[in-house]
Amino acid sequence: MGNRSAVLLQPEEVAEIQNDTGFSPSQIIRLYSRFHNLDKNNSGYLTRENLLGIPELAINPLGDRIVHSFFQEGDDEETLNFRQFMRTLAHFRPYRKSKDADHNLNSREEKLRFAFRMYDLDGDGLISREELLAVLHMMVGANISEDQLGSIADRTIAEADKDGDRAISFTEFCECMERVDVEQKMSIRFLH
Ligand code: CA
Ligand code: CA
Repeated sequence: MGNRSAVLLQPEEVAEIQNDTGFSPSQIIRLYSRFHNLDKNNSGYLTRENLLGIPELAINPLGDRIVHSFFQEGDDEETLNFRQFMRTLAHFRPYRKSKDADHNLNSREEKLRFAFRMYDLDGDGLISREELLAVLHMMVGANISEDQLGSIADRTIAEADKDGDRAISFTEFCECMERVDVEQKMSIRFLH
């Protein structure tokens, strides 16, 4: 199966994807065969369900939210082709100062945008208290009471909200992430 997939990927395509995402040709070919393993009915596209079959996402408490963010680049399509899949994975490629330019998909700014979309469930550009609570729920599970979660959400919004609309905009989000090592936290090794 891996061989057949590798044959289908043209060298020009590999070069374009490498240029676009920063993955090496051998990584691209390996991810291509993974893409096809996830694409159970050989449609050439992955659905949300297919993506949740990625073990790194399946074990991640935020896997569901990450998959949600996969589908917010551009339009509201419900499927990802290989090129879109690679662009999404590129956000999680570890950032290396020496090799990666600031505008790359794995830059701090792009990682922050991706993280922001994980919280902004309705895609209106703001993280509301309800949206923050929903993510907190997923992260902590059942170990913390509703009241405690509510006060964590209130405190987080109070700290981050600068313009007083009781929601967190992308700019406010970036400000409160200033001291967080986003480059490291938003890196997932998809290949072992
Ligand atoms: Ca929102
Ligand atoms: Ca605000």
